[in-house]
Amino acid sequence: MIISVASGKGGTGKTLVATSLALSLKDKHEVQLLDCDVEEPNDHIFLKPVITGSEAVCIPIPEVDEKKCTYCGKCAEACAYHAIAVFTKHVLVFPNLCHGCGACSYLCPEKAITEVGREIGVVECGHSDGMEFAHGKLNVGEAMPTPVIRRVKSKANRDWIVIIDVSPGTSCPVVESIKDSDFCLLVTEPTPFGLNDLMLAVETVKELEVSCGVVINRAGVGDRKVEEYCLREGIPVLLTIPLDTEIARINSRGRTLIEGMPQWKESFIGLFGQIQEIMNARSGCLKR
Ligand code: SF4
Ligand code: SF4
Repeated sequence: MIISVASGKGGTGKTLVATSLALSLKDKHEVQLLDCDVEEPNDHIFLKPVITGSEAVCIPIPEVDEKKCTYCGKCAEACAYHAIAVFTKHVLVFPNLCHGCGACSYLCPEKAITEVGREIGVVECGHSDGMEFAHGKLNVGEAMPTPVIRRVKSKANRDWIVIIDVSPGTSCPVVESIKDSDFCLLVTEPTPFGLNDLMLAVETVKELEVSCGVVINRAGVGDRKVEEYCLREGIPVLLTIPLDTEIARINSRGRTLIEGMPQWKESFIGLFGQIQEIMNARSGCLKR
């Protein structure tokens, strides 16, 4: 089962939920945690994994053999990203704009374009306290996280419980991370901002046709509008974590909730049980 943990906005406690769920399940299940927040991965700060392997993530960018080139301009016309420009006697490639789509080399009538790899990030794999771990790191200044996310997700072992920590927001990296998940946990806080971003996240998850449930973090800080919205929309609130200075203290010291307050383990096991029930009910409906 693949469970993604997402949130419409940053700072809601997504990492807290992802790491706590993984640590609570690892004694009874085989668990893998994939940190797909590749622009700012931070699960490793809490889990302190032993990294055993690392691989570069590259995208193919064009290299032009100007001995073969006739400066016809077809490659520049084909490029949707303005990453290649053709002058009277010169072709210029802008590697940082190139998305590695391959259209220019495919369409070049002279076969003057070959593709060379350009490194945009790295994926590191390892283990932490009995569970498997992988995360991606996008190089600073790079604009395309999705190839790195895809590589992290390629490490998923579907026979295990795979927990994916998704980047905040509702943009392309979020869609790439959540798609193919069996269930998505949306972490929010009970504030007007939390509600607004939760509504956007729910729309995204619905588009992807992934079942979802909500975790309300820092309950007590705001109002009850998130609960009222969930009730109206038929979205189950699966766990509520109160605003608690002890949780904040544990978090700020780079320790996991389960390590600092082990009594939360049962709540996260219960959360997983509820997800299983929802999934079982859904597959029952589909069979009928
Ligand atoms: S399509 Fe090929 S031949 Fe034409 S300008 Fe581009 S590289 Fe040169
Ligand atoms: S590979 Fe795609 S994005 Fe890159 S220069 Fe060629 S057409 Fe443009």
